[in-house]
Amino acid sequence: MTEYILLAIIMVFIYFVLIRNKPAPKTDWEGLPTLPEYKEIEKTTTSEGELCCQYCGHTETIERSLNSEKENPNKNKFYHACTNCKVILWRSEQS
Ligand SMILES: [Zn+2]
Repeated sequence: MTEYILLAIIMVFIYFVLIRNKPAPKTDWEGLPTLPEYKEIEKTTTSEGELCCQYCGHTETIERSLNSEKENPNKNKFYHACTNCKVILWRSEQS
């Protein structure tokens, strides 16, 4: 009987080790650059030094809350998209 309990403990132990060692899958949101990272990318500022869309050069962006309940349980994650070409440019998080 004790062997079975021991075996069960070992199996649970192995299970947790495997799960914990697995890197958490990166979400789409996490794949976006942060604002300082975005500024490092070429063509993200106009000649006047204004922040702009790296694809179309438009300077207006819109902030939207990340909709996923799972990825954004505290409602503090946002993404910023170009209002002209609608491409999402960077992410931000409020603490
Ligand atoms: Zn754009």
